[in-house]
Amino acid sequence: MATSNIRIKKVCQWCGNEFEAQKTTTQYCCKRCAEHAYKERKRQEKKKITETLDSLTARENKIIQLSGRDYLSVAEVAQILNVTPRAVYNLIYRGTIKAYRLTSQWAVIKRADIDAMIEARPYERKPKATALANDENGEAISEFYTTKEIIEKFGVSNSWVFAQGKAHNIPKVYHRGKTLWSKSHCDRVFTAKPETPKEDDWISYSDVRAEYNLTHDQLHNYVKYHGLRRRKVGKYTYILKSEIDAILRPPTLK
Ligand SMILES: [Zn+2]
Repeated sequence: MATSNIRIKKVCQWCGNEFEAQKTTTQYCCKRCAEHAYKERKRQEKKKITETLDSLTARENKIIQLSGRDYLSVAEVAQILNVTPRAVYNLIYRGTIKAYRLTSQWAVIKRADIDAMIEARPYERKPKATALANDENGEAISEFYTTKEIIEKFGVSNSWVFAQGKAHNIPKVYHRGKTLWSKSHCDRVFTAKPETPKEDDWISYSDVRAEYNLTHDQLHNYVKYHGLRRRKVGKYTYILKSEIDAILRPPTLK
């Protein structure tokens, strides 16, 4: 910037005397004042660095000292984790870290419990959305039918899908408002359903009632609710034994 003829009245930032400056950015009246100010600035910077190093060393020493202790206060745990005591209390209230209260004002934390808390929570990537469910061998299931697809493909009722799903433990997952059923399991369970039942596949209402200790109304409600196939012979109603068993048979222990 070229020097202009403009003279600006300023106060020297070092000696406090008034002077006429040629630039608005000039802070000192003379070279000597500028040098004094520069030296003072450097002194302050050096002092600040020393103070920071001292406080870091103090913190390090404190942590080294704390590392040898089996029991710690909340404030000390906060120092070790480099958080506020409030954050440590939040971990305690949430049950993430165990603390022992000796009096209403005095809580202690075991050093070992901090290590256990940290080790119990490794940072893990969340499973991908494609692995929605696992089969009985722990393998991820990748192919599914919706309930609607099963109804259309196998010609069964909605309630029959759920009844069979329950009876055969077909892995299912609720995803984006739809129930998804493991494709391979469905193919096994639903194609196994006999298209034309044999004569002795049918069982009378009275036999089912005797076997499962049901009133006529209770049985009738099951049949209606699950959409079971019925056959009337004279005044007797027959249903398929396999279908009612799938619904009423107690779950088998594995
Ligand atoms: Zn000056």
